[in-house]
Amino acid sequence: MIIAIDGTSGSGKSTLAKKLAKTLGFGFFSAGDLYRTITLKALNLSIKDNEDDKLQYLIEHTEILYTYDGKSNVMLLDGIDVMSKLRTEEISQNVAKYSCKPYIREFVRKLQRETKQHNENIVMEGRDIGSVIFPDADLKVYVDCQVDERAKRRFKDCSADDPTVKYEDVLQALKDRDYKDMHREISPLIMCENAFLIDSTLNDVFECEQLIIKEMIRRNLITREHAKELGVHI
Ligand code: C5P
Repeated sequence: MIIAIDGTSGSGKSTLAKKLAKTLGFGFFSAGDLYRTITLKALNLSIKDNEDDKLQYLIEHTEILYTYDGKSNVMLLDGIDVMSKLRTEEISQNVAKYSCKPYIREFVRKLQRETKQHNENIVMEGRDIGSVIFPDADLKVYVDCQVDERAKRRFKDCSADDPTVKYEDVLQALKDRDYKDMHREISPLIMCENAFLIDSTLNDVFECEQLIIKEMIRRNLITREHAKELGVHI
């Protein structure tokens, strides 16, 4: 079974997708991790987003292995685990410039499809999972949240590490990333027609998960009894 979870940056979709995968005993994969890994390599090599020849060469000479061991993900970039290096503000602010490149999307698409071949049941989160990568997903979820609430949450996380971070900058960076993700030519972020909409502005991760599992029951993807066995209070 494939559950596709798409949505805006900072909407809490990763946390939700991870929790849901754990509850259901599914593999968890984040497309953002793959785009972030390529961005990390490009930044490390000081390759700018307008240097297409160099970026294409980079893609042709990059080996990525992305796995999930039931608890956490491992991302091997050319044999080195880079998972802990992917969520920096520098990568967050640059990733959308690289993720809009057609050859980078194609490279990531192949990796995503391979992931499915190695895992029977997966929750995959990103921006185009339901629309492009797995259009036949068993369930498509779209997670959104008001942008000022997303900025407040992100600011709280960032300012703990870096007290010089300004709320206005975090808000603007989120708005810029939404804009880039929604307006790029190839596979922009959209809500699919048959997607199940979750608004995480007012619901916490537990409530969002309950809503998804209720929807899975409604669509006959899981029985009520099975949901109860998994410890979900319906
Ligand atoms: O979800 P996360 O914040 O890690 O995503 C980082 C970036 O990766 C997004 O802003 C977007 O530019 C790119 N991305 C994408 N398509 C996806 C998932 C992520 O373009 N399916």
